[in-house]
Order: sequence, then C-alpha cells, then structure tokens
Amino acid sequence: AALYGLEQWGRGFFGLNSAGEIVLKLPTAPALEVSLVDILAGLRQRGHDLPLLLRVENLLDARLAFLYDGFNRAIERFGYSNRYRGVFPVKVNQQCQVIEEIVRAGAPYGHGLEAGSKAELVLALASLPPGGLLVLNGYKDQEFIDLGLWAHKLGHCCFFVIESPAELDLLLLRAKLFNLRPRIGARVKISAKVGGLWTETSGDRSSFGLSCSQLLDLVETLKQHDLLDCLQLLHCHLGSQIPHLQDIRAGVAEASRYYAALVAEGAPMGHLDFGGGLAVDYSGGRSGHVYSRDYQLQDYCDALIGGVQQCLTPQGIALPQIITESGRATVAYASMLLFDILDVQRFDLDCPAAQNVADADLALLQQLCHQPISPPVAAVCYRQAQAARDVIRQKFQLGQLDLRQRSHGETLFLALARRILNLPGVTLQEDLAELPQSLSDIYYGNFSVFQSLPDTWAIGQLFPVVPLHRHNEQPDRQAIISDLTCDCDGKLDRFIVAGRQQTTLPLHGLRTGEPYYLGVFLMGAYQETLGDLHNLFGDTHVVSVRLNAEGGFDVLREISGDSIGEVLSYVEYQPQQLFEQMRRAAEQAVRSGRFSIAERQQFLTTFADRLAGYTYYRS
Ligand code: PLP
Repeated sequence: AALYGLEQWGRGFFGLNSAGEIVLKLPTAPALEVSLVDILAGLRQRGHDLPLLLRVENLLDARLAFLYDGFNRAIERFGYSNRYRGVFPVKVNQQCQVIEEIVRAGAPYGHGLEAGSKAELVLALASLPPGGLLVLNGYKDQEFIDLGLWAHKLGHCCFFVIESPAELDLLLLRAKLFNLRPRIGARVKISAKVGGLWTETSGDRSSFGLSCSQLLDLVETLKQHDLLDCLQLLHCHLGSQIPHLQDIRAGVAEASRYYAALVAEGAPMGHLDFGGGLAVDYSGGRSGHVYSRDYQLQDYCDALIGGVQQCLTPQGIALPQIITESGRATVAYASMLLFDILDVQRFDLDCPAAQNVADADLALLQQLCHQPISPPVAAVCYRQAQAARDVIRQKFQLGQLDLRQRSHGETLFLALARRILNLPGVTLQEDLAELPQSLSDIYYGNFSVFQSLPDTWAIGQLFPVVPLHRHNEQPDRQAIISDLTCDCDGKLDRFIVAGRQQTTLPLHGLRTGEPYYLGVFLMGAYQETLGDLHNLFGDTHVVSVRLNAEGGFDVLREISGDSIGEVLSYVEYQPQQLFEQMRRAAEQAVRSGRFSIAERQQFLTTFADRLAGYTYYRS
C-alpha cells in the first residue's frame, strides 16, 4: 500500500483487506468496506467485460458532505456571519447519473449547478429542483441569455456572470423584453498568478473576466440603466488544481478588495464566488507538486472564509454568502477505470553463450557482455555497447549483416544493459539514467488512453495506477503500461511510486491462466467527455454501484459501452449499409465459388456480431 500511496491519495476511501485486495471504504457508522475484486466478479457475472468505468455513488455523497463540513467548520471557527453554498460545474462531469446524484445528494445543502454553455444550461435547468442555485458562466449569446431568463422566471436563483463587456448590453436588452431584473455577477481578472498546470486561467492575460476599467464600465452602465441593484455577485476563478495555499490566499485577498470596491460603488452584492481550484492530491502527498497540494480541505475553507472576513469586517461590510464551484474535488474520487492486462513484453535477457563471430562489432559486444564489469566503468561499457549496437544496425541496413547477426547483436546489447542495471552499487546517472525505463516490461492493458485518460496524454496529468489484488506479494517487475491503440502516445509511463515520480511502475509477474487487474483511480473529473475515439475505441461500459450496509454493493445503473456499429456511426458510416455491402460481397463470393452458402452465412453472422460487439479486447 505504501508503494502505491494508497493511504495518501485514497483519503480513507481506499485500503487493503487481508487477502491483499483493494477495498472501497466509507467512514459511515457502521463503516462500509467492499473489495474491488468482489465488485468486479459480481459485474462479470452480470455480463460486463473489461475495461469498465466504475462509479461509486457513496463516494460522491461523501465528498459533498466533506465539502460542506469543511466550510461549516470554518464558518463556526471564524464566527462568519453568512453561509456557504457550492455549485457543481457541469463541465467537470456532465454524465447524467453523476449530475442526478449530485443534485440528489446536494439538495439538503442547497447545492447548485454551474453551466458554461447552452447545452450545459439545458441539462442544469432540467436537473435542478425548484429555486435551485444556478451560475451561468461562459460567453452567452441571445439564446443562452433567454434560457437563463426563463430559469429566473421559473424561480431559480440564477446568476448571469458577465465575462466580457459585450455580454452586458445583450443581457440588459433581453431582460427588458422579459420585464425582469436579472441577478448579475461580474467576473474579474485576478492578477495574482497561481502555480500548477492551469496558470493561464489567472493573471492579466487570462481570457476570461473583466479588467478593472471594464468592471467600472459595467458599474456605470448598470447605474445608467438604474440596475445597479442587480449586481449581486463577484466571480473569480484562479485556475484548476491550485497546488499552493499561498496563491489561494493571495487570490482571496484580491477578490475581497474587488468585492469591497463594488459595495463602495453602491452595488448590493451579497455573494462572492471563488470558482474552482480546490486541488485533488493525485500524487499522494508530494507537497506543492502540481499533481498534489500543500493544503487540506479544511485549510482551503479557512483561507476563503477567514480571508474574506479579514478584509471586509474591518471595513464594516456585511459578509457575503461564499460560493465555490469545486468540480475536481467533488467527483474525482467516485470513478475508477478497471482493466485487465493482456500480455507482457519483457526485456531481461541473459547473455547468450559466446559464439564464433566474424564481425568486429558483434565480437566487441560479445566481449563486453561476458567480461566482468565494475560500477565505475559501467557507463563507459554501456556507451561502447551502444555505439557497437548502432553500427550493427547500420550494417544490417546496408545488407552487410543478416537478420540472425543483427538479432544476436540486439540480444547481447540488452543482456549487457540488464547486467549493468542489476550491478550492485551502480549509479544510474547520465547515459545510464534511461536504463530502468528502457529495460522495463511493457504490460499491455485492455483500455485506450485517448478514450479513458485523455489528460495523461494531453497535459501529462498523473493518476494513481494500482493493481487491484496481490498486495500480499512483493511486486517483482518494473513496467510501463501500453494501451490497445497502435499509437506510441497510448501508454502510461509516469507514475508516483512511494511518493516519488518514477518512469516505471512496480507490478506483479503474470501467472498463466490467472487474470491481472489494474485500476486507475481519481479519474472522475474531466476525463469522460474529453475522451476521443482514437483507433475507434469507444466508451467503456459504465457501472454505478452503491455500497450497502450488509457489506456488499447494489448495482444501480449499467450502461453498455459503445458497440463497433455505434463508433462507426460517429464517423458517419451507417452500420446497416455496411452490412448490406458485405451481404452483396458474400453473395458474389458464393457465385464465384469462393464461399459455400454455409460460409456465407457464417461470415455474415460474424460481421453482424462484430458490428454489435464491444470495441475492446475480448479474452
Ligand atoms: N469554474 C470555472 C469557471 C472553471 O473554469 C472551472 C474549471 O476550470 C471550474 C469551476 C472547476 O474547477 P475545479 O475542477 O478545479 O474545481
């Protein structure tokens, strides 16, 4: 467990049982605990193949409860005289069952939704209970604004966040036609820059939000229209996955000043929305790392509540309702990708027995491979071997060496490299630093990076990757994980191991006839809709479960992954038409004697089955 950082990134939701399997845990009374291997077995009995995206509803509920507990504790601690309310930013996970569960579990807290596009507003409007909190971000055209005005009329507490000057005129025009006084929010550009992977969301050059002078223009326009009373919210978003608390504190201080300034201008305000940014500890505690954070949830809540109070109370300004749009921190824990390993390629070859070789470079490689090596000369030996191997490859290209000779050379080189890697006391620096990864095993996993973990490829995001079982055995292999796509980017080759970033992951050797299951965790945020159809691997099956008090789990929803026919239709093929083409081709094959009629039937059944079948590997 320590190797894979389960205790750290798992936040108490994941642990091990005595059989060495990963268990899901819920700190309820009584505490609930179910093995992921048991869940997998139950789902396979119900006909679900791997890969599979597992959602655990209780984890969503628990994360929402943590968020409100944290803020309520801060409110109590600081004696803050207003409340906290969150909205879930729909873009972080738009899946119907996720939104429905957030709305259901969030209802007691008055948790709302944030929409950044017309499509998101449509689903938010249809999902929210009467009077629900709705924050509208993003660039809004007339259709977007009109739907928001209908939401207002329906009785929702709907804030139109003005992101750019042009939006305001349109909003005022449409609101007049609707005969409404809309609730308006102003999104400001916070100049305090934050660290991490999403630094561009903050600072003067961020694409969203109003500059100081644009904010003043907004105030003036509202005053001219006698609508300043509509300005009720200040919005800022510093970025996602903010690693440092000091950056959050700086942003809170600056936003609070803006808030005070708008109150001084005569706006009623009342709400301060800090957007997203609450980070998830993907790396298991490397403080301040971009995949981690140097604060806990409670520190974040204290920084917001305490920071606003510290700025506004001395100025005698009534404290606003605090809103956040935490997406990642709400949904990341609840989803995990489960897949099996199909095969392994190993690179640990023994030195082949010495042969009579005529070629000088092969002879050199053979000599290097068989001679004793001490750590101080390891790097020199390795460089010599690399040079000889490269010449052997050139000679093969020029036709001077045959396939068997080249193969002998490659084997000698790999065997020598393995010997160096295993040398006690060798320092793996400079040329030798590449050895652990270049000699690691390649584990072929039944999934697509591009479909299920797009952020690992697009922005180098790290997610915890852990075997689901065999934790009672010491993992004795070092591996990278390749997916099913024939793309060199379709791999996972950066991991957090024992709290440190590493290019290989310790895994267990495969046993014949026994499956080996891996899980990628904390992937409930952003991954599902960002995924694409590279190599036409479609959506995986999705199963939603809820741990029950009997120590088991209930299967709530089962959504079949894309069939091959479905993914083909996404790229404008018509499965029915494809079948018809094949039927004609098969009939032609019968006529020309290449197919018997029985073979025609067999082929057409196979083709129809494939169209209806799963896009992933079937064991
Ligand atoms: N609100 C806005 C305006 C955003 O742009 C984002 C994402 O970048 C979020 C909220 C969600 O942020 P996070 O997932 O870090 O909570």
